[in-house]
Amino acid sequence: MKKLRLILGDQLNSEHSWLQELDNNTIYVLAEMRQETDYVKHHIQKVVAFFMSMRNFFTAIKADGHQTIYFEITDAENPQDLEKIITHCIEKYKIEKFEYQFPDEYRLDQQLKAICSNLKIQSEVFDSEHFYTTRHELSEFFEGKKLLLMENFYRNMRKKHHLLMDGSTPVGNQWNFDADNRKKYKGEVPVPKEKNFHTNVAEIVAQIKEAGITTFGNINENNFSWPTSRKQSLEVLDYFCTNLLKHFGDYEDAMHTDEKFLFHSRLSFAMNSKMLSPKEVIEAVVSYYHANENEISISQVEGFVRQILGWREYIRGIYWKEMPNYAQMNVLENTNKLPEFFWTGKTKMNCMSHAINQSLDEAYAHHIQRLMVIGNFTLLTQIHPDEVDAWYLGVYIDAIEWVEMPNTRGMSQYADGGIIATKPYVSSGSYINKMSNNCNKCPYNVKEKFGEKACPFNTLYWNFLDEKKEYFKGNQRMGMMLNLLNKIKPEELYKIKIKANEIIANMDAY
Ligand code: FAD
Ligand code: SF4
Repeated sequence: MKKLRLILGDQLNSEHSWLQELDNNTIYVLAEMRQETDYVKHHIQKVVAFFMSMRNFFTAIKADGHQTIYFEITDAENPQDLEKIITHCIEKYKIEKFEYQFPDEYRLDQQLKAICSNLKIQSEVFDSEHFYTTRHELSEFFEGKKLLLMENFYRNMRKKHHLLMDGSTPVGNQWNFDADNRKKYKGEVPVPKEKNFHTNVAEIVAQIKEAGITTFGNINENNFSWPTSRKQSLEVLDYFCTNLLKHFGDYEDAMHTDEKFLFHSRLSFAMNSKMLSPKEVIEAVVSYYHANENEISISQVEGFVRQILGWREYIRGIYWKEMPNYAQMNVLENTNKLPEFFWTGKTKMNCMSHAINQSLDEAYAHHIQRLMVIGNFTLLTQIHPDEVDAWYLGVYIDAIEWVEMPNTRGMSQYADGGIIATKPYVSSGSYINKMSNNCNKCPYNVKEKFGEKACPFNTLYWNFLDEKKEYFKGNQRMGMMLNLLNKIKPEELYKIKIKANEIIANMDAY
């Protein structure tokens, strides 16, 4: 039977069982499509990374002897739309059966189901063989529970997959070393330079321009740093184990104006495109730890395993549990628009300037920059979560809706009413000051709440609490914050609110 097998741009899993045997009657199709470049405005590096990785994957499976079809974005024959590509291939190659792997995005899942129901030939869907959990495992785990605590899910995953366990006891006698993972970085240990592949991507950039795709952000065409093949992805993993793991946990939450990546792995794109599997990443890290226990402490390793075995799988489970309603949630009824500086980087707030300019230059910011600087600012200024989602989905190299949306709309913007976070991740400037050196060189004063030089995060923080106090009054975890709000003198609060409204009305001036 002549088969057509679809491989989406984030399904570049060369270890998939599909690819383990050759069959001349099976054709694999990969396509660069306007449908995928245009549903949101993307960072140029994100589009380049996907196209380059898809092309490398295609070249590799073709060299292995598989039958393949590839549509480049500028090919005259490229229909640019998934349904048309599938029907075009079915007709042209006289295909008798269509097969695909479960997509990770709800949008594509719906589209592929609809396409299959219109096909006159048989179709079948397969697992993508990537995650530890199935789409619905988290829902089953939390069945009947009110609180969907990540920590409970994570402990169960550790036991189930027997990772960092001594029998039924966690290695180090603790499940969680979170409290050890909050060091401020003061330059005490040198940060190794990030792994850079210096790839020349000028040809792809030219094709993206020729196709008329609108992108944003910056790129160095002769010096593209991200891994775009399985071989390079494995090199990034190896680099992480040998150079960065020993300090990963310590500085997980730190920020520094001279260090964009600190000890973070930069593995998210390689994993989200499925060039690497989470299992092989965790196994490599755990076995490196066991071989080097005299040099690396458990707190560094547990911190890393928790991000992938815990957070990554948890976030995916929440996405499939809550979609499609999740995409519409806005419980705090925020309606403001993103300021222009999210696209230009022009802001005087030093922390925001660093985080946004880094995002525009590298298509990357680490989780505390995303959560406690940029996301904190958008929540305090009460931006509509649709606007925030679209920006995050466009700007980051690793942003695919299943992982971007629960992190942004849920964890960061509290638009889901606490499905993920039991309280909103908001803070005044003092948290940013505690975890970074940003405030030292900022024109604003992190100690002041209002007035000309006051740190906008301070003013906005108290204003946010005051505006949302009715919504949060029953939330015990907000009790302390609301008590402190109550202690602010009315005349002081009045000044804070006047100033906060001025900031919100004129964000680009700050
Ligand atoms: P490291 O710090 O080295 O962590 C290792 C790995 O853990 C990451 O590669 C990632 O796969 C996983 N991980 C860590 N935290 C999370 C998390 N909260 N959810 C899922 N996986 C996690 N991650 C994405 O992959 N895509 C996104 O679009 C995305 N959007 C985010 C938006 C917000 C508002 C926040 C707060 C976080 C977001 N994250 C997202 C999670 C996290 O910021 C990135 O995975 C991480 O910064 C990627 O860099 P890294 O590979 O160097 O990560
Ligand atoms: Fe950011 Fe406020 Fe610190 Fe400036 S003073 S860097 S705005 S937290």
